[in-house]
Amino acid sequence: MKKHNFSAGPSILPQEVLLKASEAVQDYNNSGLSLVEISHRSKDFVEIMENARALVLELLGLEGKGYSALFLQGGASTQFLMTAMNLLENKASFLNTGSWSEKALKEARMVGTIEEIASSKDAGFNYIPKGFSISSDYDYFHCTSNNTIVGTQIKEFPNSPIPMVCDMSSDIFSRVLDFSQFGLIYAGAQKNMGPAGTTLVVVREDILGKITRQIPSILDYQKHIGAGSMLNTPPVFAVYTSMLTLEWLKDMGGIAAIEKENEKKASIMYSEIDLNPLFKGFAKEEDRSLMNATFNLTNDNLKDTFETMLKEAGISGVNGHRSVGGYRASMYNALPADSVKALVEVMSELESKA
Ligand SMILES: *Cc1c(COP(=O)(O)O)cnc(C)c1O
Repeated sequence: MKKHNFSAGPSILPQEVLLKASEAVQDYNNSGLSLVEISHRSKDFVEIMENARALVLELLGLEGKGYSALFLQGGASTQFLMTAMNLLENKASFLNTGSWSEKALKEARMVGTIEEIASSKDAGFNYIPKGFSISSDYDYFHCTSNNTIVGTQIKEFPNSPIPMVCDMSSDIFSRVLDFSQFGLIYAGAQKNMGPAGTTLVVVREDILGKITRQIPSILDYQKHIGAGSMLNTPPVFAVYTSMLTLEWLKDMGGIAAIEKENEKKASIMYSEIDLNPLFKGFAKEEDRSLMNATFNLTNDNLKDTFETMLKEAGISGVNGHRSVGGYRASMYNALPADSVKALVEVMSELESKA
């Protein structure tokens, strides 16, 4: 039986995408060859790559606005370094909203001077700092749109006079934003777009080429753009499966349609957390993530009972990140509302038992 999959990453993908992807692994388009055993320079694969890159720009509303979409490797973690290698000449400013921000900051510090302009570390990262201003003395400003581990999300992005670089690994394609406010967006595929193995980078081309540093080819966005995202062998399976997910999203009505679903799911989830006295939400209400809801039991003695009930209901992946404990329900695009209802049912059943 298919489980209710709340895994934080790698995470749930649409069933029909998994089916099509597995068919392609056996035999791509009745070609007598598997998708993963053909040349990435073949017409078939070049078409897939071009389609995937175009779908990204279309869904984000960035067509014809000077942006390029790239499917790279090395995870979002490589982007912590790569963004700095390509954009940092003197100094950059960072918003610190959790451990992914901190990791990004640490890597960029190997390349140049980084200043943390605001942080929510004082409260265990349970909120998003606001009211800070960004000076134009910096080369760029870096932020994390959704903090996967603690369950906070930036609702309103600051006005930035310099290119805004954003790690959107866990909420890309989940909500309507003016994506043209960003100079560069990056996201590991495995949270909301596809299987692990590729990282999406969307960059406004005019912010590149402004630094004097020599950049190793494989870390150079301009070289990747010039090579049509095929500077070396791309992760063909991850790109193809991401393309299928993007097509699925487009068929559903795009980001505006999925945002409504995501809001509905989050509202079911957070209502239960707020109304059920056995649970307490971790993130400050106004900054709560639509993607990752974090919460704790108010009575630890109920832990075993709760977890047994979850298991019996076929609910998987709700344990909190190893660094914070508690529970985390990740409600990415492909998670059906019925899965959230199943989880909420277990929570309210626990209340009636306790
Ligand atoms: C998961 C995650 C990462 C790390 O991604 P990798 O692809 O494993 O390097 C970075 N940032 C955020 C916000 C994440 O959720």
